[in-house]
Amino acid sequence: MNTIELWQAVLGELELSLSKANFTTWFKSTFISEISEHSLTVGVPNMFTLTWLEKKHAKEIIKSVQEHTGGNIKHITFRVETRQIPAQMVPVAGKPEPQPVYHAPEQPVQSPKDFFTEQPSDVQENRTGEFSLNGKYCFETFIVGKQNELAHAAAQAVSNQPGGVYNPLYIYGGVGLGKTHLLQAIGNELLRKNPNLRILYITCERFTNDYVSALRTGKMNDFKNRYRMVDTLLIDDIQFLGGKESTQEEFFHTFNQLFQNNKQLVFSSDRPPKAIPSLEARLSSRLEQGMMADVGSPDFETRVAILESKCREKVYQIEHDILNHIASVVQTNVRELEGALNKVIAFHQFKNIRPTLDTVKPILTSFQPSSLKKNVTPKQLIHTVSIYFDIRIEDLLGKSREKKLAFPRQIIMYLMREEMKSSYPSIGNELGGRDHTTAMHAYEKISECLTADEKLQHDLELIKQRLYTS
Ligand code: ADP
Ligand code: MG
Repeated sequence: MNTIELWQAVLGELELSLSKANFTTWFKSTFISEISEHSLTVGVPNMFTLTWLEKKHAKEIIKSVQEHTGGNIKHITFRVETRQIPAQMVPVAGKPEPQPVYHAPEQPVQSPKDFFTEQPSDVQENRTGEFSLNGKYCFETFIVGKQNELAHAAAQAVSNQPGGVYNPLYIYGGVGLGKTHLLQAIGNELLRKNPNLRILYITCERFTNDYVSALRTGKMNDFKNRYRMVDTLLIDDIQFLGGKESTQEEFFHTFNQLFQNNKQLVFSSDRPPKAIPSLEARLSSRLEQGMMADVGSPDFETRVAILESKCREKVYQIEHDILNHIASVVQTNVRELEGALNKVIAFHQFKNIRPTLDTVKPILTSFQPSSLKKNVTPKQLIHTVSIYFDIRIEDLLGKSREKKLAFPRQIIMYLMREEMKSSYPSIGNELGGRDHTTAMHAYEKISECLTADEKLQHDLELIKQRLYTS
């Protein structure tokens, strides 16, 4: 086995234990640089990757190399080094993407000043518009746990070296998990370092509205000036580009111009680019070409740490066992967690009493996962899935067995069984009068797929979140 084959075998193994975003991010452009009887040197593209791999993956790599070589390798070092990697080595699942072709800028443009957040002092005070950054969303107030450490590290790397290796940065995950917080933290941090930078934070919806009104009023040049003259563009909730064809076209040119000039681009979304319905392929491949990082639901320890941090921020003291209780009841996302804490604080401040377990428990009943689940009806579930996959309800309930319809339909049946404990015959009924064996089959199939299919796991997580939090 030569070093290329060895590395390929090692990567093949590591790939199984990591999410796709994670794997691609850390192992793209790595290779075996040197190998001797006892030690191995791995070439990595930059310092950021070096530190991360050293900290997080050194042991696994050694173990895997030992298995493939018979156990002599004891030491591993990482070295920043670039090398042309043979095509078959690039550890990205699926087809290779076509390389982007960039369009020349249409014309030189001038920037209207008022659109940007110009000074840190404005940043602190201006909490009104969507254009502005909110100073409270900074890295200092962001709690890092296992489920967001990748996104957090990437966001920090971008604010240390905008336009550098991670361009674009694409952060995705369910509602209330800190995506907006991270985008804003990047903006705030960049401004803190250089108050003259032109940072534009905007929601995708606002971008779309702006574009539409520029078209209507014939002010396309103003629009272009505004978006193409920034140093860093942060667009939140980019999934809303789905289905908006002419906005996508405009976004494509904005993206290319900024990217070409090494300007940093950061996006957030509730899902990976390829999963956004009706998003042009050329766009999703661009969105994927930099760094993708997912955020997941915080585990118990992280939830407690977040509560502690929010209490410090609010200068309000709550006993540890009460915080533990809140963290064990509210599991969905950080926004809910904050909501629950605020409710607890408001109640006790109003009554002017100290919180105890007895006074806190009744306040949290509306956050109990079980009581949330009771409220969801099959109709709501069907509706949620139909929006998630951008498929009409009639089609979901209809007869067609096209894969694009059949799979979401099976997901609905699975969730009815799993989440609502419905009987198979009633599941069949809800789905346009299907046989109960169809429902059984769907349940079994999705259960089986779930064990290996990370994208499906992610989809179900997001669907459930939407179902229970909307
Ligand atoms: P998203 O954009 O993913 O829907 P947000 O960024 O708006 O979520 O986060 C919702 C709320 O939770 C915000 O108030 C945010 O400050 C807070 N939050 C989310 N994640 C964290 C975290 N890891 N540490 C501290 N606060 C967090
Ligand atoms: Mg958000």
